[in-house]
Amino acid sequence: MNIHFDSKDKIYNLHTDGIPYLSFDMFDRMGIPNLYSTRYRSYDADTGRGEPGLRVVVMKTEDRDEAAPVVIESRARLAGQLGSDIEHECITDQKHTDNVLVVSPEDLGPVWPADMPPYRQNVDGMVTDIPDALLTVFGGDCPPVYIADPVRGAIGLVHAGWRGTLARIPSVATDLMGERFGCRTEDMYAAVGPGICMDCYEMGDEVYDVFAAEWGRSDTDKIMKRYPDGKYHLDLRSANRMSLLSAGIKSEHIAISNVCTMCNADTFYSYRAHRMENEQAAMLVNRFSKAGR
Ligand SMILES: [Zn+2]
Repeated sequence: MNIHFDSKDKIYNLHTDGIPYLSFDMFDRMGIPNLYSTRYRSYDADTGRGEPGLRVVVMKTEDRDEAAPVVIESRARLAGQLGSDIEHECITDQKHTDNVLVVSPEDLGPVWPADMPPYRQNVDGMVTDIPDALLTVFGGDCPPVYIADPVRGAIGLVHAGWRGTLARIPSVATDLMGERFGCRTEDMYAAVGPGICMDCYEMGDEVYDVFAAEWGRSDTDKIMKRYPDGKYHLDLRSANRMSLLSAGIKSEHIAISNVCTMCNADTFYSYRAHRMENEQAAMLVNRFSKAGR
């Protein structure tokens, strides 16, 4: 893997044994298992390249019955690399919403999105205080936002594309963690994961208008700028950081990705770069081995 980092900050650790992945150094130091997978050695149905048994999502072009067990097996391997188990996993059918699920024990275990009960469809985030629960979201250019409260023993993981970012889905998750688990934002840690960078992320003027209506012009001007190409560009990292800060999370408890999926299109699936559906998996386990839980 040859990854271009946008800064010299040590945000990630790279793991190349088994299925390659990145993990947040901040969470690693707290003993919180976390990862973001790559396309390295992964299988592309479009090109036929890579290990046929290695991919984390099924694409529309594939035969579902053939691909689903393979995909679940790949996620089981990733879960195992975190010391977790696919039997503890919860996923949802993501649709760029701001809906966040409070995970129940019966939601844990491998499942195919189309077979999920309706309450797990059109859901883009999850929160849980179930010990050892494994949350997984998927993303190409949309960053995942990881949240952990080592005091209450609870985690959240959301998929924050521009629509989820607009709706402040990270703070929907932190609010729910407060309501349901008694978490306080001053105890929480959060990380905005790999996703498309501002330079790569062109948006139409209408996106500026919806952000301005929702966030106000002053805050929108901090996260969207008109580039010399005449297009607005959106900074998803800064926008999600602003949501986390306004929710009450301390700035020193927030890690921000310095990896762009589109700048690193050889290492990551990027919707904008490839126009394909393949994605990475982001995983977070509700375990705090060094955080005095
Ligand atoms: Zn980029």
